[in-house]
Amino acid sequence: MTSLTSDADNQHPVDSTYHPCCNAIGRHGPDCVVKAVDDARASIELAHRGAAAALRALPDEAPLFAVVDTVNAIAHLRAATRLVDRAATAIDRTTAKVTP
Ligand SMILES: [Zn+2]
Repeated sequence: MTSLTSDADNQHPVDSTYHPCCNAIGRHGPDCVVKAVDDARASIELAHRGAAAALRALPDEAPLFAVVDTVNAIAHLRAATRLVDRAATAIDRTTAKVTP
């Protein structure tokens, strides 16, 4: 017996996820700091993957400083990830104090 209301048949599911960070349901609000920080982290991760791919693609005869600069860029992106994570943790603590 099949259910008439199974999730697989529902072509228009409703996202009822509650986001206490911005007091929104479904999607985060347009000014949500948690979403902004998540987006920043995703952008940094994308840049990190791109820089790592560029490093792998460098030919053996690439100028030394091109390699050094690419490695430095990767290191800075790792640092950026740590800083964004630290900011996210601080924001989470602040949000936890505000919400009852
Ligand atoms: Zn939010």
